[in-house]
Amino acid sequence: MKVALIGVGQAGGKVTERLVRFDADMGFDAIQGGFVVNSAKADLQSLEFVDTQLIGADRVNGHGVGGDNELGAEIMQSDIDQVIGGLDGRITSSADAIFVVAGLGGGTGSGGAPVLVNNLQRIYDIPVYALGILPGRNEGSLYQANAGRSLKTIIREADSTLLVDNDAWHEQGESVEGAFETINENIAQRVGLLFASGEGMDGVGESVVDSSEVINTLRGGGVAALGYASELAADNSEENIRTVMNVSRQSLLTGTSLPDATTADSALLVIAGDPDVIPRKGVEKSRRWLEDETGSMQVRGGDFPLQSDRVAALVLLGGVERSDRIDEFMERAREAQKQQDEPNEDPAEQFADDRLENLF
Ligand code: GDP
Repeated sequence: MKVALIGVGQAGGKVTERLVRFDADMGFDAIQGGFVVNSAKADLQSLEFVDTQLIGADRVNGHGVGGDNELGAEIMQSDIDQVIGGLDGRITSSADAIFVVAGLGGGTGSGGAPVLVNNLQRIYDIPVYALGILPGRNEGSLYQANAGRSLKTIIREADSTLLVDNDAWHEQGESVEGAFETINENIAQRVGLLFASGEGMDGVGESVVDSSEVINTLRGGGVAALGYASELAADNSEENIRTVMNVSRQSLLTGTSLPDATTADSALLVIAGDPDVIPRKGVEKSRRWLEDETGSMQVRGGDFPLQSDRVAALVLLGGVERSDRIDEFMERAREAQKQQDEPNEDPAEQFADDRLENLF
């Protein structure tokens, strides 16, 4: 599918840039250019492959909002005409959807992304989705509280919100910075493949996925998650039935962006690889397995022809907001909100706690 990507804030900007680079390196041409908006000038200056726009210069003078997501929302609203103007000509009639990308735990992205989505919905007829990054368990309480509020708002505004939990898609024990690198790279590869898989070249075959299948899978709204796994292809078709089943299982059970979210309203299974080695029987068996596992009657399936010696499964899940993972996160966010509302008696102690949490 052809998408217009707009990153908001630091994480939103970095992930947008990574996606744009992956799409260009692979020659997919699914992303119509990335655009990044931030209130922190230094964060924008570190981006090379996307166009950028500074907002809120009159309020924060290019220094960012420092985790104040209400200020992030206000700045986005007061500069919305400039932002929408900056997008003019970038969201062309060939775009199938818009994705607004943001870390939900910070300030500019957390507050600004829901405001931007709301405004884009009024202007454009194509779906406006969010790609939101949830703070991991060990991130500070301000991040958790911000993300809780932002998530509730963005779910309401966006046509669907694809979530990536910062505790998924990286190895345990990595440093925060190292983990961000890995997570961003994984987001770029996996979400980038999803965009490209929905490109569905005409005439390649009925089993090839197209953009309407991605859009229909996300049609119910709420929260979406994406799973991914890959394996070397075997050299005979009987064994590749097993390979396809294996990668599909791993993709859902251990490879999703929202760990343990396996109950869904709808799903799309995309098997990517050399069309000569992907057995139809394997795709069909995996699709049926996915129906049982997700409890959804709406499981679509298709191929993404790609020259590779590996076979990969991408599983897009729609309507996972009732999963335990989301409940657990919302509980964490409520607790964090309480802590924010009732500051510790001793401000020095409170500061030390937050610092420790943030250091991890
Ligand atoms: P903003 O610039 O005010 O919007 O704030 P950030 O984008 O820095 O948002 C902070 C949240 O995003 C926290 O939960 C961080 O852990 C997360 N975050 C910051 N940078 C990155 C990144 O490069 N990758 C990922 N995956 N998360 C990030």
